[in-house]
Amino acid sequence: MTRFVFITGGVVSSLGKGIASAALGTLLQARGYSVRLRKLDPYLNVDPGTMSPYQHGEVYVTDDGAETDLDLGHYERFTGVAANKADNATTGKIYSEVIAKERRGDYLGATVQVIPHITDAIKEVVLRQTEGLDFVLVEIGGTVGDIESLPFLEAIRQLGNELTPARAMFLHLTLVPYISSAGELKTKPTQHSVKELQNVGIQPNMLICRCDRPIPENERRKIASFCNVRTEAVIPALDIDTIYAVPISYHEAGMDREVLRHFQLPFEDEPDLSHWQRIVDIARQPEGTVRIAVVGKYTNLLDSYKSLAEALTHGGIANRVRVQLDWVDSEIFEQPNAVEQLDGVHGILVPGGFGERGTIGKIEAVRFARERKVPFFGICFGMQMAVIECARNLANLPGASSTEFGPCDIPIVGLLTEWARGNEIERRAAGGNLGGTMRLGAFPAALTEGSLVREVYGAPQIQERHRHRYEVNIHYRDQLEATGLRFSGLSPDGVLPEIIEYPDHPWFIGVQYHPELKSKPLAPHPLFEGFIAAAVKQSRLV
Ligand code: GLN
Repeated sequence: MTRFVFITGGVVSSLGKGIASAALGTLLQARGYSVRLRKLDPYLNVDPGTMSPYQHGEVYVTDDGAETDLDLGHYERFTGVAANKADNATTGKIYSEVIAKERRGDYLGATVQVIPHITDAIKEVVLRQTEGLDFVLVEIGGTVGDIESLPFLEAIRQLGNELTPARAMFLHLTLVPYISSAGELKTKPTQHSVKELQNVGIQPNMLICRCDRPIPENERRKIASFCNVRTEAVIPALDIDTIYAVPISYHEAGMDREVLRHFQLPFEDEPDLSHWQRIVDIARQPEGTVRIAVVGKYTNLLDSYKSLAEALTHGGIANRVRVQLDWVDSEIFEQPNAVEQLDGVHGILVPGGFGERGTIGKIEAVRFARERKVPFFGICFGMQMAVIECARNLANLPGASSTEFGPCDIPIVGLLTEWARGNEIERRAAGGNLGGTMRLGAFPAALTEGSLVREVYGAPQIQERHRHRYEVNIHYRDQLEATGLRFSGLSPDGVLPEIIEYPDHPWFIGVQYHPELKSKPLAPHPLFEGFIAAAVKQSRLV
């Protein structure tokens, strides 16, 4: 029997609903249950693929090529369950499906309305592909009280009735602020938020109360009685130094026990959370620190590099060190000698990116890493920058560039309009829509015998996730390899360069894909583990 847990948020946004959902997922797994997490987002974009990372944070890509909300990254990192297309839906996606059906005449002349047509479509999204699972956790984006969340709340209210409490539970995440002038914790915002939910017919079964200090027992009881929830189901969720401590902290607050109690499942046995404890111990007491400069463009909004920051931390955990990230806006390296600021860092990473602005500075950072033998990791755009740097500075091709920035003499990085996925050919039009026109999702790469990446992965073939329009042009391979660069990973048909490296450098790797999307605290990605290990070595030199 599949049980559904619906997670809503109230009072303010950014309370960590995604992490709370992911933490509950991992706690249920530790109890021996299978879980799947999904997210419903109330905005009108069909997917987050065309949204600015400044506004919305990173776009998380799944194996099957869906461009999704970054919370799906939290779900995967905490539970290890790979998300897919079915796990993220937005208002835009649901409306486009319903409107497409209406145009086809599928509704047989009926008046098409929010209720029941949109709400039915939402219910279908929640229920599909859930056979055989013990738990499906469904997070509703946004904050209760927003106009645009209403169809979602109505749909989960109906589902609550149809599934009955034996199969449905409602969790609500709120804020309990401390008002320093009064010296008191305030429960009123929580009461109001629950009232908003009750107005649309949803009675939460559990409240997760974010707070910057312990919530005294009498305040818990007060929240319980005003909000019509059992006191044990008012879960204090205190601010904590590392997100990896969240599962243990929520367990200690009784979260998983109360969920199991709601579903009348046994909860007496303690789950084994020692794997999380080990990570928390390393995060709290590292054996050293390495400094990594991340040279990018969206450095003023850390959410735009969420998975990357996490993956670097995982690399640190694997090496028992803390990774200190220096976020550097690449544009500053356009000033003469400014790149010398990188002197003393233990590793340089150029992450994914779009557009020409800031590229000169990124290329300078690559040159610095290559010449000074500082460990270098180029991801997607970062690999493209490394190839352009090689072409311009080593292969004597000053006109080398990417057609992403307009026509150029030597398109060392260019638009490819078709490629193979398994036995099929996928195509894109040069002037096509921006939405969903990239090479997206998991593709295989074959690794060259004797290369550094082959050693790092310990395997001849890999699968990694992509999200890009442009490709390094294989026709320049000989010219570039003559400088010492190696194409050490290619698509199995040998057409698409996937990985480059310099064998005469301590650690210099560029990859066309996004390895950060598959790294997990309990299973750090080998490239991040290797990069940080190289940075640790470097830290002993400088
Ligand atoms: N802008 C580059 C491309 O589209 C790289 C994209 C990325 O780094 N994700 O190919």
